[in-house]
Amino acid sequence: MATIDGLPPLREVIRAHDLVAKKQLGQNFLLDLNLTAKIARQAGDLSACDVLEVGPGPGGLTRGLLAEGARRVLAVEKDARCLPALEEVAAAYPGRLEVINGDALEVDVLSHLTPPVRVVANLPYNVGTELLIRWLTPEVWPPFWESLTLMFQKEVAERIVARPRTDHYGRLALLVQWRAEAKIVLHLPPEAFTPAPKVHSSVVHITRLAEPRFPADGAVLSRITAMAFNQRRKMLRSSLKALAPDIEARLEAAGIAPTQRAEEISLEKFCALARGFSA
Ligand code: SAM
Repeated sequence: MATIDGLPPLREVIRAHDLVAKKQLGQNFLLDLNLTAKIARQAGDLSACDVLEVGPGPGGLTRGLLAEGARRVLAVEKDARCLPALEEVAAAYPGRLEVINGDALEVDVLSHLTPPVRVVANLPYNVGTELLIRWLTPEVWPPFWESLTLMFQKEVAERIVARPRTDHYGRLALLVQWRAEAKIVLHLPPEAFTPAPKVHSSVVHITRLAEPRFPADGAVLSRITAMAFNQRRKMLRSSLKALAPDIEARLEAAGIAPTQRAEEISLEKFCALARGFSA
């Protein structure tokens, strides 16, 4: 059967290269090229961008990105078994796909990328969350990326976009929303993947802001929110007690009642509290 890019259908690619999915690498592949093109479109206009793709696997999303017109794709894949399949994709799009065989948590990608850069990935849950935190907490802002379009378990996606006073609200929402705009752009049922995972998935599109939404020292904000949400059901005067002997006065100065709980506090108020510590 013909495909949008003239390359063989992904089922054939997987069979030809014997890419039996490995659970320990979180391999749940997307085989529908219409769907991977749709995910690629969520990343915006790619024609003037380098795209960093983490975990291309057999290349379904990579092909979507290239077919949708990405200027260049840099793909980092840990599983060397996927390389021959990715070489076929590179041959179909001369000069537009570079593949690095390595662990995305270790490879230095910056020297391989020309700005502007957009990041697109369908990653295993644990690696995805760790990379997201790293991408959100660089030493300098703005970061190397313009946007992140990432597949997560639905529950993690909900944590990223959560608002105060909801079950999913926590440190992840605060870290993302402090310096970026996040929205869920697509929901996918387990059957969209091969093999099907146990949970539903969602694609989150995150765009960086030029400046943080509210001024604060990132390290202080990170520490305060970690402590506050570690004991999310406790009153802040007790969960943050170890921060300072006069924590109640500091909370009040930031407009927070010491009896309030972390999940009730807006980003703006957490930033006000953080500023009190760096003043
Ligand atoms: N992008 C492909 C797709 O959508 O069909 C594959 C997605 S699969 C969920 C995750 C991919 O990430 C696998 O190909 C896996 O080998 C790769 N992977 C897992 N851990 C990785 C890591 N630390 N660095 C780079 N790639 C990794």
